[in-house]
Formats: sequence, structure tokens, C-alpha cells
Amino acid sequence: MTRPSHFSEPPKKSLGQHFLCDRGIIDRIVLAVNPKPGDRLVEIGPGQGAITFPLLDRHHELTVIEFDRDLIFPLTEAARAHGTLEVIHRDVLKVDFSAIAGGEGQIRLVGNLPYNLSSPILFHALEHAAAIRDMVFMLQKEVVDRMAAGPGSKIYGRLSVMLQAYCRVTPLFDVPPGAFRPPPKVDSAVVRMVPLPADAIGVRDRATFARVVRDAFGQRRKTLRNALSQVCDGAAIEAAGVRPDARAEQLEVADFVRLANSLEITGL
Ligand code: SAM
Repeated sequence: MTRPSHFSEPPKKSLGQHFLCDRGIIDRIVLAVNPKPGDRLVEIGPGQGAITFPLLDRHHELTVIEFDRDLIFPLTEAARAHGTLEVIHRDVLKVDFSAIAGGEGQIRLVGNLPYNLSSPILFHALEHAAAIRDMVFMLQKEVVDRMAAGPGSKIYGRLSVMLQAYCRVTPLFDVPPGAFRPPPKVDSAVVRMVPLPADAIGVRDRATFARVVRDAFGQRRKTLRNALSQVCDGAAIEAAGVRPDARAEQLEVADFVRLANSLEITGL
């Protein structure tokens, strides 16, 4: 793809700027998003518009959130030929997705995320999950693998459990470093996340659940009885139908949910 002439600044490492330049990959991302009339699309980190402009060509209306002030004007200028672009110049972690969605509405998020902020952005999105219909994100492949991992796997951990308790996580395809300019040092992957409907989320108290998952995996080689000693005793773990001598990596997401819910009931 030829770079639009509006963009003259070199990529900024501090902002995780690796711009997509592989047309085939860009097409696959647009296909994965598959915008439908009426969708409210929001892109995180549009950069030089690699995904933005093809999405705009298909959908005509798009909101983008970009932190790099040097990109705001060129993006706005280059977008004119493609459709209506609303540019929010802000740190995405300070953006209220629920406010963008408005009332009962829902947004669809897309983004080739800055890899240094992947986890904070994912957790920020989780806080607004009710306002998000789905997410299609490019991330480090290693992060996508951890997000989708299941019990028994070495990479199953806090990220897997926290995300899977609130979303359906589906890895879509891998992307090699050569698809970006400059190329990152790691492989990448595209993942889809669909927040579960409210009545399918078993977690009753988000803070209790987050604490249990954090402590359980904080010392993953310890038994649950020891790793969770700050929040409950062995009897409470057993009462929730979980073996106190098990390790966090052996528990299903549903086990964590049951355990956290029972602790909430007994007044953690
Ligand atoms: N979407 C473009 C592409 O695929 O070529 C750029 C992707 S680049 C990996 C990440 C983008 O996120 C950059 O444009 C960067 O400036 C932006 N970014 C970095 N930190 C951000 C933040 N805190 N809030 C919003 N955007 C941010």
C-alpha cells in the first residue's frame, strides 16, 4: 500500500507505532469486522489509517481514538476522500466507551493496538463490556494465546480467566512481523471478543472475582489454600465445591466464578 502523502512523521516507538502495510491482512481484518448498516464502529489507534480508510470506504462513518497529536490533522485530511471520520484525540484509557455508545446503544471496537498497552486496554474495555457488541483486535500473538488458553495449559492465567468470564474469545489468524512498518520483534494475531449477555455472566461482584483470580494466579505454584489465604480459608474453598489443594491453573473459569460468588455471600 502506498502511504498517504498527508503523513510525514516517522513512527514513534513510545506509542507502539507499527503501521500495517499488508493489503491482504488489512482486507482480512475488514472482513472480520464485516460492518453492517447502523453499526457504530470505533477504532482504537488509527495511526496512518491502514484499517481506517478501508473501513470508511465500506461503512462511510467511523469514530477513531488516537493519542498522537501529529496524526490528528493528517488523518482528518486524508479521511475526506473516504467518508465521515470523527477523531477523538485522547488516551484511549481515559475514553468512556459507554458514553460513546450512549444510552442503550452498543459500539463495535476494532484496533491494531499499541502492544505496550494491550492488557490495560483489554481491562478498560471489560469495564464497559455492556456498551460493546464485539471487538476485533490485533495483539501480540503471545497475548492472544494467553487470552484463549484453557485449564492445564502453562499459559492459562489471570488474563484468560478474567476475559473468558465476561467474553467469548476467538483467535482468528496470525500475522507475521513483515506485515508492519517498522516490523515488531514479535508475531501478532487477530482476535475477536464478544461480551457475554448480562444474564450469561455468572460473576456477582466484579471486585471480589478480580481479587480471587489475582491472588490465585499471583503464586500459581501454591495450592489454592495457600495462595488465597488473604481472602478465605480452606473450608470456604471446599464449600464452593473446589479442592483447596488444587492449583489455580487446574480450575475452570466457572470454578473461579463459583468460588468468588460464595465468598461474596460469606462477606469477603
Ligand atoms: N491502526 C494503525 C495501523 O494498523 O497501521 C496503527 C496501529 S499502531 C500498532 C498503534 C496506534 O495506537 C498508533 O497510531 C498509536 O499512536 C496509537 N496509540 C498509542 N497509545 C495510544 C493511547 N494511549 N490511546 C490512543 N491511541 C494510542
